[in-house]
Amino acid sequence: MINNYLRLLAAMVLSTFVLPQQAFAFTVSTCTYDGSTNIPAMETNRNPDVYFGATIPSGSSQFTALTQALSAVNRVPANISFRGVIFGTGASDAVAPAFDAGISRFWSMEYYIYRKPDGTVDTSRRIPSMTGNFLNEFYFSNDPTMDNAHTTTSYVNCVLVDKDVIFNTTPYSVDANGNRMPMSWTYSDSASSSLAYEGASRPFKPTAIHETLHYLGLGHEQDIYNIMGTDFTHVGINGSTTIPYVGEDAASGLVSIYGTTPYTAKQDLGISHWYRWNQTSGAPSGEENYSRHTRTRIYDTSNNLITDCVKTDNSACKFNEYEKDQFFKVSKGQTIRPQFIIENNGLWNVQAPVYYYLSTDNVITTADTLLKTVNRTISRDAPDLVYESVTLPSTLVSGQKYYIGAIVDPNNSFTELLETNNSAYIGIHVK
Ligand SMILES: [Zn+2]
Repeated sequence: MINNYLRLLAAMVLSTFVLPQQAFAFTVSTCTYDGSTNIPAMETNRNPDVYFGATIPSGSSQFTALTQALSAVNRVPANISFRGVIFGTGASDAVAPAFDAGISRFWSMEYYIYRKPDGTVDTSRRIPSMTGNFLNEFYFSNDPTMDNAHTTTSYVNCVLVDKDVIFNTTPYSVDANGNRMPMSWTYSDSASSSLAYEGASRPFKPTAIHETLHYLGLGHEQDIYNIMGTDFTHVGINGSTTIPYVGEDAASGLVSIYGTTPYTAKQDLGISHWYRWNQTSGAPSGEENYSRHTRTRIYDTSNNLITDCVKTDNSACKFNEYEKDQFFKVSKGQTIRPQFIIENNGLWNVQAPVYYYLSTDNVITTADTLLKTVNRTISRDAPDLVYESVTLPSTLVSGQKYYIGAIVDPNNSFTELLETNNSAYIGIHVK
């Protein structure tokens, strides 16, 4: 059964566009073929189906979250998108009978041809022999020795033939002594349940996106704000709802492997209040090459971090990797420089307005108090870490908490595949 959830019905929006400058940081998994090195290992089917195992039944919260994660990958402006989901009764390389129809379908991969990154086709590169069951499977495992999630890829002559994405039924964190601390996945987008915001659960969707990007050929990235690092601290935010997404740099990585999509509607701008954290010490074993992220902050006009900062319960900010909302202590009328990440996740470079607001809650809308308007050139290259100076009203109430918000494309001048990720916020507490 093919599920149409993932099918992208892209409206055709014709416009002139400029290809982005090449200034990226992503990492591509490569292999060697015929003496040529650094060939990207890639999916040759531009619209592959994926198989969900019995641990991801139709209609389950796992199913809903995973299809939404795959849909997020489908929004990327690369010439690759998942076509649909096929259900099986079991899913591991040892379990084949339930997938007989699927195997015969994928057997034809023997005749798939290898499309090089420059778009030319190597018809000599037929797959001479195959391993695994040749299905692209997603499933949960209760193997107590496995990591939180991983992706296995088998490729022949640099053609990926079997990609399996496996999630641990019981994810865990690691304490200071190296012991596993079991926790649960959350399949929701609620910030309060997310580990990133000091909640109790590990968000599933960002991890599912991260693993799916491994499947498609991306490796870990440590130099930039990127979902191929710590994935659940790479999210958009809209009020108390997080927005899992691929992000600008990983999107550019997929474009580098697969070329650009023929669907011109694949445009998306975004803002986040997470950015890459420079701290590299203390990373868990095996995660040293992950970019780690932390909440964006507020600086003064001398570029000094405002360190006088409290959380919702008025305890001091810890400036840790994971942290609840922070409220930076500011004065009425003060000029401050809030940090935001602004991204172009889409096909075109654009000139877009960014508006800054003062809000009494963390849902930032154009009905909030406008503080400043800026026009920015937003290219799809590296995420932009922006420090815009904004001056606070002198009428603020001492002792009160507010939010500084930013909205990109506030008037919806651009048609985007995702319109919910255009704002973000940082808290302030008026002295
Ligand atoms: Zn990974």
